[in-house]
Amino acid sequence: MSESAIDLDTIVEGIPIAACIYRGPRALAVNRRLCALTGYTREEILGSANLFKDFVMPEEMERLAARARARAHGDNVPDDYEFTGRSKAGLPIPARARVSPFPAGGPGAVLWLCTDESERSKLGAIIRLFVDASVAAQHETTEEGVFGVVREKLEAHGLRVSFVELQGGRFRFLPGSSGPFVQAVQALHPGWAELSAFPLRASSSSQGTLIDDLPGMLSQILKRPRNDFAGLAAERAVVTAIPVDGEARYVLACSGSGLDNAIANAFGLFGRQLGAALETARGLTLLRRSNRELLVVNEVASASARLGSGRALSEALQQLVGSLAIDSVALFRRDERELVLLDQQGFDKTWAATAQRLPLGDASPWAEAASSGERVLFALDALGHASPQGARVSASPSCVAIPLRVRDDVNGMLLAVRRAQLTEDDLRTLSTVASQMAVSLENVALLEQAQRRVEELSLLLELGQEILGAPDSGTVLEVAARLFARLLHCPRAYVLLPNASGTSLYVAASAGPPLPDVPLVPLPLDGTSLSARAFQSRAPQSTIDAPHDVRVPQELAQRFQCRSSLAVPLLSHDRPVGVIALIEAGERLFGPEDLRVSAHAAQLVATAIDSARLHEDLRTSYGELARAQAELVSRERLAALGELSASIAHEVRNPLGVIFNSVGSLRRILKPQGDVELLLGIVGEEADRLNRMVGDLLDYSRPLQPALQPVQLRALVEEALESSRKQAGPLAEAVETKLHIGRDVSTVRADERLLRQALVNLFLNAMQAMPRGGRLVVDARLADLSGAAAVKIVIADTGPGVPAEARARIWQPFFTTKATGTGLGLAVVKRIVEGHRGRIELSDKESGAEFRLLLPLGG
Ligand code: ADP
Repeated sequence: MSESAIDLDTIVEGIPIAACIYRGPRALAVNRRLCALTGYTREEILGSANLFKDFVMPEEMERLAARARARAHGDNVPDDYEFTGRSKAGLPIPARARVSPFPAGGPGAVLWLCTDESERSKLGAIIRLFVDASVAAQHETTEEGVFGVVREKLEAHGLRVSFVELQGGRFRFLPGSSGPFVQAVQALHPGWAELSAFPLRASSSSQGTLIDDLPGMLSQILKRPRNDFAGLAAERAVVTAIPVDGEARYVLACSGSGLDNAIANAFGLFGRQLGAALETARGLTLLRRSNRELLVVNEVASASARLGSGRALSEALQQLVGSLAIDSVALFRRDERELVLLDQQGFDKTWAATAQRLPLGDASPWAEAASSGERVLFALDALGHASPQGARVSASPSCVAIPLRVRDDVNGMLLAVRRAQLTEDDLRTLSTVASQMAVSLENVALLEQAQRRVEELSLLLELGQEILGAPDSGTVLEVAARLFARLLHCPRAYVLLPNASGTSLYVAASAGPPLPDVPLVPLPLDGTSLSARAFQSRAPQSTIDAPHDVRVPQELAQRFQCRSSLAVPLLSHDRPVGVIALIEAGERLFGPEDLRVSAHAAQLVATAIDSARLHEDLRTSYGELARAQAELVSRERLAALGELSASIAHEVRNPLGVIFNSVGSLRRILKPQGDVELLLGIVGEEADRLNRMVGDLLDYSRPLQPALQPVQLRALVEEALESSRKQAGPLAEAVETKLHIGRDVSTVRADERLLRQALVNLFLNAMQAMPRGGRLVVDARLADLSGAAAVKIVIADTGPGVPAEARARIWQPFFTTKATGTGLGLAVVKRIVEGHRGRIELSDKESGAEFRLLLPLGG
């Protein structure tokens, strides 16, 4: 070994990177580092006849030889160049070389320094990977997208990736994280874990950190033997925090082989870039959410425009569930002391059934929200035994009750349930939607109220026309009962009026299914019934629990099947004229609306009753007037007839007297026989008839002034029968008589002579009607005449009776169907009876005639 050679060797050995000195195609000196890089021994390298041939990849040979030739030629060739060397194993070695003349090695000698670029290219590749992943992350619009794309890119490069979320001293792994550490931590803490329990190095630093002994660290943190992580022995990890809005919100950890400090530094930068990407994605998410909120609110608003439509409401709720990822939502209307379910989405049927009406009296989140006017967050348990969605809702869902407020009123409630925590953003959107719905509900209520009023008015108008056009007060009352039943949607309505003595109320008309006995129930006006109270106080009275209300007689509550009732006074000029009683078998609270409507209707009915009564009074007055007029005319006619009769009777009676005397004298003088006897008989009989007619005429026209005195009825009737028999002569022979005089009518007050005459006329007619015999029955007993005691005398015969066409005329004077009749008998009877303030009528009978004579017992 020459001295200079020793020198060259010493020189190259002292260079800290791979190096050799060569001249032409041969090496003069080689250091150990070069041997280590290529895998050849020094001797092998020094023994090579052509360095360019033996130690570079074949495709590089020509380029490097040309480069060397150009350099030897003195061309301007850069000192540095890259090339791919070839290891002893034939593998490519990415390398960078620097050449410089080395005169100490002799002319043309070159010092060749070489750096192994394989590590550096690995770093370059990984940095390119980070750049690539962070560019892809910037394109993502959601946080999940950012995490997903980063995981995908890094895992494709053979790295194991875990994302950790940090929050208030706690951490948890995001889905997709794997590896022994993740598994071990998640086994101990399925959700969030306390950071203090795990001394995670650099978890919040913004620099990347290299963990060069991953198994060691895991065994230390998890307090488990190092062997448990033996499979990871070769592994290293890099960790970096991901700052979002200036705060470390996530940690990214990658494990794999070949990680070093340079990568860890680049990883820190990568973490910051991911933070920026997450900020952008978060901003976009917020923007999208506000957009969605706007859409939801807009949808709810447009649903409100289609007021009252149930479909619009459920569409709005569906939209709400979809847009805010709410599991279940329910909308309620407030009805005094409870919430009435309007619609719901996502709750199960059992819950929806139990929540049809939620009381506000009990302690509950919604009761609290209704009384405070503020939203109340609560746990699922408070919703009751049947949880929404049944078993699908598991871990601690968050529920909220948001009152629907219009001005200072709470008119409804929005209940929302979500399995995941409700965020402040969600609550804000829900509140906005709730205020929108509050306005919608108010509008619906106003519209319904307006519609109700219109319906009410048209019903009032319709029934008002019917009522005012009713021909009599009976019809008015029936229409009134119907009016109330329809207006107040009540199954039963009764019109109660005071009786004549003003002591009780009786049912004058009713609407609804009839109940047995009800019309007979009189309610004492000084009693405690709702109707009596309404009548007396002139104010409506109501009950919702009649069976236990002291104001409702129990017997009545049962008989009327009444649980709820409203009694409305009918006032005419502030004077009670009756009561309308509305009755429901179920529980019903008659509210201010009902009272308002019934007050209007009551006014209408009272006015109609008044005017119907006025009409009836008018009609009665007209009738009475007409009767009085007819009586006057008849009286005048009678007076005229009386005068005429008196003068005729005077004129006729004198000659009749002469005729009777003459006939008597002739009989004495002539002692007549044969035809003379017959002719004298005829003259006598005709004169007799004439005399009777004159008598009847005088009776009929004579002013009638009965002189009342106690009369023994039986004796009078017997006398009259006797007298009738005489007058009837042989006609009466075959007539059988039957007499019954009740004990309580043995004595009556009457004008004896007049009553006898009336009875004689009636008996005579009966006997004349039965020329071939028959039966005459006289029956006198106690009866009622317009509320007063009277005697009823029935005179019945078995003759042919009065023909139908003659019935109306038999009372008229001079109406007769008999050849020798005067037609004055019944006219006289009628005058006598009416003179006694009694009544006579011919009753309808199939055979025979039956006259009923009624005379007041008091006279
Ligand atoms: P008169 O007996 O002179 O006909 P009335 O006034 O007594 O006059 O009777 C009028 C008419 O009423 C009679 O002509 C007869 O047609 C009818 N009438 C009265 N009583 C009876 C009777 N009991 N049965 C059948 N018809 C009768």
